[in-house]
This record gives sequence, C-alpha cells and structure tokens, in this order.
Amino acid sequence: MRFVVYDDSRLGLLRDESVVDVSDLAGAGAGEWPPVFLLRAIAGFGRLRPRLDEALRSRQGVPLDRVRLQAPVVFPTKVIAAPVNYRAHIEEMRPLVKGELHAIEKYGVFLKAPSSIVGPGATVELPFPDRRTDHEVELGVVIGKAARDVPEAAAMDYVFGYTGVMDITVRGDEDRSTRKSFDSFTPVGPVLVTADEIPDPHGLQLQLWVNGEQRQNGNTRNMIWNVPRLIDYASHVMTLYPGDLLSTGTPEGVGPLKPGDEVTLEVERIGRMSVRVELRKR
Ligand code: MN
Repeated sequence: MRFVVYDDSRLGLLRDESVVDVSDLAGAGAGEWPPVFLLRAIAGFGRLRPRLDEALRSRQGVPLDRVRLQAPVVFPTKVIAAPVNYRAHIEEMRPLVKGELHAIEKYGVFLKAPSSIVGPGATVELPFPDRRTDHEVELGVVIGKAARDVPEAAAMDYVFGYTGVMDITVRGDEDRSTRKSFDSFTPVGPVLVTADEIPDPHGLQLQLWVNGEQRQNGNTRNMIWNVPRLIDYASHVMTLYPGDLLSTGTPEGVGPLKPGDEVTLEVERIGRMSVRVELRKR
C-alpha cells in the first residue's frame, strides 16, 4: 500500500495515479490535536488493513494532481538519523570538517526535531544567508511497532514502511541536532510505502537534483550500517514507537543550496518530490 497525507490532514491510499480517501477509517481530518491519526493507523494497521483493502477495491479516487500532498510522516515521537553511513560521503566531507572524520560506528545516531518535517512542494527556509546549507537525500524507514532492544535478526519485523527524506544541514560546529533541526529542514515524501512492497530496502537508487542538475546518485546497498543494524542500535538506546522516522544517511554528492533553488529527490519504488529554497525572513 502507498499512503499519502494530503489537503488538510486527510489520509489517502494511492491507486495508480489517483488518491482514495480513507480518512474516515483512520479518524483523520482537520483540527485534531495532537495530530496522531497516522500513528494510530500505523499502530493498528493489522486490524485496519482489511477495511483499507476494501476501500481500494470499491471507492472512487481523485486524480493525484488535484490534491496537495503533505508529508506522509505526521507527528512522530522522534526522527532518528544516521551520520556518515556511506563510505564515499566520508571522503567528500574531509575538507569540510576540522579534525578526524569517522563513520557511524564512532558517532552512533542523532535526533532531528520532528517539527522540522515538511512535505512535497514546501519551501526550505535557509536560516543564515552567509553559511553553507547542504542537501542530503536519504531512505526513510518508518517504524511499525514498539521496538526496544531488537536484535538485527528480528529488526525487519518492526518496519512499517519506507519514504524519501531530505536531511537539510547547516555546516558548522554546532551539535548536529541544532544544525539539522531548523523548521523545514526535513522534507519527507512523497508517499509512505508499506514494507511488503519493498521486501529488501538495500538496493534502492537515491537521486537528487538541484534546478534539474543531478547532484546525488547513490544506492542503499552501500550503507555502512544497513536497516536491521540501525534498528538494533537505535532500539538499544531508546524505545522506537509506531510512526517514528529513521533516516538512514546520505550517499556522496551533498552540496550547498541557495535561495531560488528547486530541489528534487527520487527514491526508487517510492517516488519523486520537489521543494523550493528561500532565505528565511524574520
Ligand atoms: Mn543525513
């Protein structure tokens, strides 16, 4: 199944190029606070699935180009991310980092503020006119059930699905959680694909373009820590909850953004989405 969140916090399923509204089945819609409809749907997916299947068979859809997509990850308890999880990315970072540069084995994982999530078509706001701010394209893993101390061998049972992520990053000396948590710094989408449709997430092409020029073209097979290893590690630190987003690190090709840019990501079997870049006004 391919979940989308659209218009004013509606929940839909993609059927070819149309959106089937299943908001009623998940209690989704405008005005809910906290907005936990997607977390409920993920946590209760086993019970909900027969009704979602029936909706896909029987309901009329609306054309995808008639809706406004939002991020298909809503109000996760946390966004966990992997630093330096591709070897080739280590090499390109050497000139930018003072001191020795290590890989994920040394750093562990870090957190991004969930409030930094935005969806397709959003505007990424650069907070500083004079500091380098980079794009990173990553595979996002959405957790399906509470996970604590999950060993690698069992980890894939805890995956609900996959989505695309841009991990926007100000370069500099502050803690990663500061440099990567500005509002709009985590574009997510365009869809959330359930794990049954992607049995192995370790052979997916990750691509990113700026103004139509390709900047990144990597493959998830080159992760240093693969998805089960990341879940094993992260769940040893903190309990993962349904709907939590785990961003798995960027391949090489990161580069600076400037106001006016259009940035497009494409993750194989998930889809393509674009955001614009502007200088933040305050
Ligand atoms: Mn990253």
